[in-house]
Amino acid sequence: MTRTEKLLAELIARPSVNPAFLPQDAVGPRCRAASDDQQVVPTRFGEQRVADFLASVARRAGLEVEFQKVLPGRANLIARLLPRHKIRQTILLAPHLDTVGADDSQFVPRRKNGRLYGRGACDTKGSVAAMFGALCDLAKAKQRPKETEIIFAGLVDEEHVQAGSRAFVERASCLSPSSKRARDRRNTCPTVLAIVGEPTRLQVVTVHKGSLWLELETRGKAAHGATPWLGKNAIHEMARIVEVLETDYAAWLRKRRHSLLGAATVNIGAICGGLQPNIVPDRCAITIDRRTLPGETEAAVHREIAALLRSQQLHANISSAKLAPALPLETNPKLPLVQQFLRSIGQTHPVGVDFFCDAAVLSAGGIPSVVFGPGDIAQAHTADEWISLGSLDRGKDWLLRFLNSLP
Ligand SMILES: [Zn+2]
Repeated sequence: MTRTEKLLAELIARPSVNPAFLPQDAVGPRCRAASDDQQVVPTRFGEQRVADFLASVARRAGLEVEFQKVLPGRANLIARLLPRHKIRQTILLAPHLDTVGADDSQFVPRRKNGRLYGRGACDTKGSVAAMFGALCDLAKAKQRPKETEIIFAGLVDEEHVQAGSRAFVERASCLSPSSKRARDRRNTCPTVLAIVGEPTRLQVVTVHKGSLWLELETRGKAAHGATPWLGKNAIHEMARIVEVLETDYAAWLRKRRHSLLGAATVNIGAICGGLQPNIVPDRCAITIDRRTLPGETEAAVHREIAALLRSQQLHANISSAKLAPALPLETNPKLPLVQQFLRSIGQTHPVGVDFFCDAAVLSAGGIPSVVFGPGDIAQAHTADEWISLGSLDRGKDWLLRFLNSLP
């Protein structure tokens, strides 16, 4: 087992499920000691256990460590490798520390047929292990960049509302370091590139889609089920809206294409309406997930859906259902550091992915960002999540090669 594989196994064995996925009634029992066998059942929620573990490894490797408080009991872990000379540029390695929920068996890492199984294996503790492993190797090496500062930012809450990356950019005016030693070493505002860790099959991603959640609500008039002609059925109107969105609107979106992302999409993910069979329903609502391309705004999407419904004599209230904006990412692939990263791993053109991640938040906050990491998004959030160990080890080697190529 390589050091990176061992590190990933250690991370999987420390659950860090995003507390947003906490079942409402499970808080108490899961956090209390189990009374029958006197064993303490460790809580599996929150990123702190993983952050503390990484902090202790980072300190042993000689990195500067700080915690950036984001939410109660939840902090971004910042580990910094300073160059020997003045800082001319900064590379940010930014994977998230949280995962989605899982059953108990997924917190026991299992190795089989060249794969490591467990929650977070590919999304995104694989990236954490590859990035953190590369940084620790560099910290112990004799040769390392002389003017490039490398910061590992283990971010909280990516799987929910990205509170970690949002807090990071808010406080990152030139990624201000807390220690005097780092401040003394710094030019005014060094060039920065963030490499956000997500499973991209080791491809450098410069664009991804945004994700807009909208609620559409129809209103009708309640009446007795025996005299439906006295009411107006809100579910019937919504059924017609669903049909229009799934056919006309989806077909129209398929024509709107981005060279690296393909088409924008729409998905109707939930519907609710009505109380019981003998009442004409006076309200029905759907929530839709509209994946946006660079250049599309929430206001424009509201307008185009409203216009489409109007053209069909349909009526719905449209409102935002997202807790925080999730914009598309579009980073200029010609930026020198992006070009150098592409060259160092032998990739000729950047690629795009469908999923949203922290990269868009960092980018909107002024930090040019790309996405890169071992593993395949197809295994993310699944009941038997895994990562190819070959991909994991290559990921660390390629990151190390890139970091070593920097001045
Ligand atoms: Zn992820």
